[in-house]
Amino acid sequence: MTDTHEGNDQAGAPTLHRGQLADCPAPECQDRVAEQQNDTPEPTATVAGQSIALHLTNYPDIPNRWGPGHIRATGLRLDYGSLQTPDTRRATVTGLWIREDGEVTDEPLDRDYYAPTGDTSGWPDWIADLARKHTPNTAPFTPADTTTVVTVTSPTDPKAVGQQVVQALRRARRNGLGDL
Ligand SMILES: [Zn+2]
Repeated sequence: MTDTHEGNDQAGAPTLHRGQLADCPAPECQDRVAEQQNDTPEPTATVAGQSIALHLTNYPDIPNRWGPGHIRATGLRLDYGSLQTPDTRRATVTGLWIREDGEVTDEPLDRDYYAPTGDTSGWPDWIADLARKHTPNTAPFTPADTTTVVTVTSPTDPKAVGQQVVQALRRARRNGLGDL
C-alpha cells in the first residue's frame, strides 16, 4: 500500500509525493503541516488560584455572624486567587457554636471572610496573619509557547534535519517569537 499527497517536484511543478504529508521532508509540505497545526488551538489550563486547609487549635473564638454566641474555630480554608485576579483572598472558618453563656455545643458553624482585592485589614488579625503566612509561592506566569520545540523526524539524515530546523524556526517567527 502506498500513501501519496500533492506536492511539487524539484522544478516546482505539481506532482504526487510518496508517503504521508506529515512525514514529508519537502519544504512546501512542511509548511502545510505547520499551517494545519497553527489552525488548531492547543487546549491550555493555567493556575488561577490555590487553596490550603488548616486544622486549628487554641485560636480565639470569633463572633457568630448569624446570631448570638461565637464560633470555636477548628478549621480554616484559605483561597488564593480567582478567575478574575490572583489578589483575591477568601477565608472560611469552620468550627463549633459556643452559646452566649460560653457553653460549647456540638453544632457546626462557619463564617466566610472575603477580600476581592486582597485587602484583609477588615479580617480578624489572626486570620489575616495565617493568610499571609500561607501565601503560595507561585512561579511567574510563563506562556507555554515561548519555547520552540523542534521535532526531528529523520535524525539520521542531515539534510532532513536541517530542513526541519529551518521549518521550526520559520514557524516560530510566524508565531511572533522574534529573533531566534
Ligand atoms: Zn510532500
